[in-house]
Amino acid sequence: MAQVNVVIQTAFLGDLILSIPVLKRIKHLFPSEKLAVVCKKGLGEFLLQENLADMVFEVEKSNSSSYKDVQLKLNSLDLNHVFCIHRSVRSLLFVSRLNARKKIGYSSVAGFWVFDDVVEYDKKYPDVIRQFRILEPVDSEVRKEFLKDGFESLNDIHSPVPDFFSFEISSKAAASKRIAIFPGSVWATKRWTEEGFIKVAEMLTAKGFSVDFLGGPDEKEICERIAAAVPGTHVQAGKYSIAETIKSIPNYGLVIANDSAPAHMAVYKGVPVVTVFGPTTLDLGFRPWSNNSRVVQNTTMDCRPCGAHGHDKCPLGHHECMKSVSAVQVFAAVQELL
Ligand code: SF4
Repeated sequence: MAQVNVVIQTAFLGDLILSIPVLKRIKHLFPSEKLAVVCKKGLGEFLLQENLADMVFEVEKSNSSSYKDVQLKLNSLDLNHVFCIHRSVRSLLFVSRLNARKKIGYSSVAGFWVFDDVVEYDKKYPDVIRQFRILEPVDSEVRKEFLKDGFESLNDIHSPVPDFFSFEISSKAAASKRIAIFPGSVWATKRWTEEGFIKVAEMLTAKGFSVDFLGGPDEKEICERIAAAVPGTHVQAGKYSIAETIKSIPNYGLVIANDSAPAHMAVYKGVPVVTVFGPTTLDLGFRPWSNNSRVVQNTTMDCRPCGAHGHDKCPLGHHECMKSVSAVQVFAAVQELL
């Protein structure tokens, strides 16, 4: 029976996509071993479809028996390494019950008890770099890379992504007059305004681009409202699974999204992306991890960032971080990339 390396990443889809460079590196490091990923329910299909993992185990955060089931399944395998990218107490407890040769995670009081090796979680660094640190104990090349300095500056959208830490996109997406717009986000304050999306869609259609609005079933309504205001645009939201949506991204010449999972989907597929940032800022570490991307944001507001993820309502009640971003700015960013 082949040995199995396990990655625990039970965060939202965007964070899981940002784990892809690390998943690829683990496959490269241990070519004869299997890679298993423990992820949030509903997110495993695309990892298998894209051949990023050999096995996926989905857990439901509110359901402790789902963790127990996965624990039993994993402990029936020959586990070599466990890489715990997710930092919650629940994930640490879960890892403590796994039988593996070596468990690696981020340093914390509980982490010293659970893991055989701990690494630093560098808040100042881009998330992909923070995630790569988990490989330091097993990868001499990663250790060599971390001798270098300047990772903090990579949060700047104009800083080139180092090849070693990139998504390794081998083929450039073909030029296309089709634009995908994802107006949704799990967090309401991370959504740019509907008026903004309408205006930029009008500008694009006026220039001869075909515009599709995409998203999950929960985002169908917002997509329909926006599309109804811009004749000739189409709603694809709610029709496809996450895996199918990711597969469809290369059909588009460019993606416009909020600071959310679709921006990272576009990067993963090598499609240029314009991302609107509001309550979050680039120094939180979640820039689109590509050299073919632009970020549009209001850099003059002291209240940004107002949280690590965004909120359901603007804590100040005005949501100016998003309202002050204009369609002209977003369209200009689109033109820079096309
Ligand atoms: S507090 Fe500021 S950054 Fe946060 S949602 Fe409101 S306007 Fe945006």
